[in-house]
Amino acid sequence: MKEIDLRSDTVTRPTKGMLQAIMTAEVGDDVYKEDPTINALEEKLAKMFGKDEALFFPTGSMANQAAIKLHTQPGEQLICDKWAHVYNYEGGGVSFNSGVSCKLVDGDRGMITAEQVEENINPPDFYHSPLTTLVCLENTTNKGGGACYDLEEIKKVRKVCNKHELGLHLDGARLFNALVKKGEDPKEYGKLFDTISVCLSKGLGTPMGSVLIGDKRLMKNAIRIRKVLGGGMRQVGFMAAAGIYALDNHVERLAVDNDRASEIGNILSQQAWVKKVEPVETNIVIFYLKDAGDEKPFMEQLSKNNIRISNMGQGKLRIVTHLDYSKEMHDHFLEILQAMEL
Ligand SMILES: *Cc1c(COP(=O)(O)O)cnc(C)c1O
Repeated sequence: MKEIDLRSDTVTRPTKGMLQAIMTAEVGDDVYKEDPTINALEEKLAKMFGKDEALFFPTGSMANQAAIKLHTQPGEQLICDKWAHVYNYEGGGVSFNSGVSCKLVDGDRGMITAEQVEENINPPDFYHSPLTTLVCLENTTNKGGGACYDLEEIKKVRKVCNKHELGLHLDGARLFNALVKKGEDPKEYGKLFDTISVCLSKGLGTPMGSVLIGDKRLMKNAIRIRKVLGGGMRQVGFMAAAGIYALDNHVERLAVDNDRASEIGNILSQQAWVKKVEPVETNIVIFYLKDAGDEKPFMEQLSKNNIRISNMGQGKLRIVTHLDYSKEMHDHFLEILQAMEL
């Protein structure tokens, strides 16, 4: 059996159809805004979310960082969950790029409530503390194990943001996993958020790329910030072709990834050597071994079977399902888990 790599949904290779789309893409110099395929991708996503504009970025981190810069001035503060990607995994970019600090909220699996947002806003006339100007939510949550927000809670967060004149950004790296899971319409999200970033290179399976979506009012400066961050690109329509292909062919199938993750979670929860499995909502399974000392033998047994997962330390492990994880691999992996003794 080929290697089964469940460390992340970023390990996928382009499918035949996607490669064909890449090879036949019509391209131009995007720095001159003359790449027809990039223009088509940006229009497609703006329309899908009911927003004015969209802009392609090489990475999700750069898209989030640009969004934060669009919403804030140096010295200001944003509110996010303590596990947020923008705070934990973007190299300190919030302070480096925007000169902004983060007020961290102790949320539930990476999700925060409207009430928590309101409690964490610094009073604007109290000049000793930084001015709160932005709220960043993440859906689905990464460190929180693929948890999805309830749309009703996001509506409440929006109300709080309106009341206090705060911007609202969504880190939607895996938003499509949530949309498919909950049967939601991207336009609902377009209505609620000022800016949204989505990754094409996670569950959607392209080699690279993220897109920032928003209204003209904010997005008019996005291309300058992307330039400053070093993100001006030339014939990048090849990657946009992969993105368009993924949006047309790889969105509905995310349900398969979500279901397989749920089946893995069920099997794990029946094993004597598993202490706890976090609720599986989308394509990420986070679980804990009963005995942290079992970590090494567990990982060794997996690697003997040519299976890779992420070890997050202290008995915490992570599995992510994706496009290159086939039915055959899934059945094999479930059998291995069921038979394992530690
Ligand atoms: C992957 C991811 C990103 C973007 O990461 P890049 O590696 O920079 O593309 C942003 N937010 C979340 C929640 C992610 O999982």
